[in-house]
Amino acid sequence: MYKHILLATDLSDESEYVLKKVRSMRGFTGAKLSLIHVVEPMPGYSYAYLGIEDIEGQLIEEARTALAKIGQSLEVDKKDQWIEVGPTKSKIHAIAAEIGADLIICGSHGRHGLSLLLGSTANAILHGAKCDVLVVRLPE
Ligand code: AMP
Repeated sequence: MYKHILLATDLSDESEYVLKKVRSMRGFTGAKLSLIHVVEPMPGYSYAYLGIEDIEGQLIEEARTALAKIGQSLEVDKKDQWIEVGPTKSKIHAIAAEIGADLIICGSHGRHGLSLLLGSTANAILHGAKCDVLVVRLPE
């Protein structure tokens, strides 16, 4: 059975549906749970308008707060809550490898994939993952 699950969340409202599934899965697997949210770096042109570090810093802080809320509801230790900055797919794969996750859970679509059967991030997570991936089909 799975020993260490990594839940990838985009912190959107849709993620609540995924959290319910994770809660029940965790119950019957008894697996450890870690959480990850990746903050995508701001595009270069943002430099022209605002201090990019400030925006990124603010995004990271907001993400940390939102992830902590999810962490609290799922009883996940702070040290198992990952906020990463960079390309979403590779950061998720890198953290999955670092913590020895044997299952990655993500939603079928989130912010980027509403009109698609499978969002671009979900697709990217599936391709190249070194462990199992559970894609939770989100309701239309
Ligand atoms: P998407 O393919 O972007 O529509 O998103 C599909 C799923 O990928 C979401 O339901 C999340 O589980 C995961 N995901 C998307 N963006 C992120 C992100 N920035 N950090 C972590 N997981 C994400």
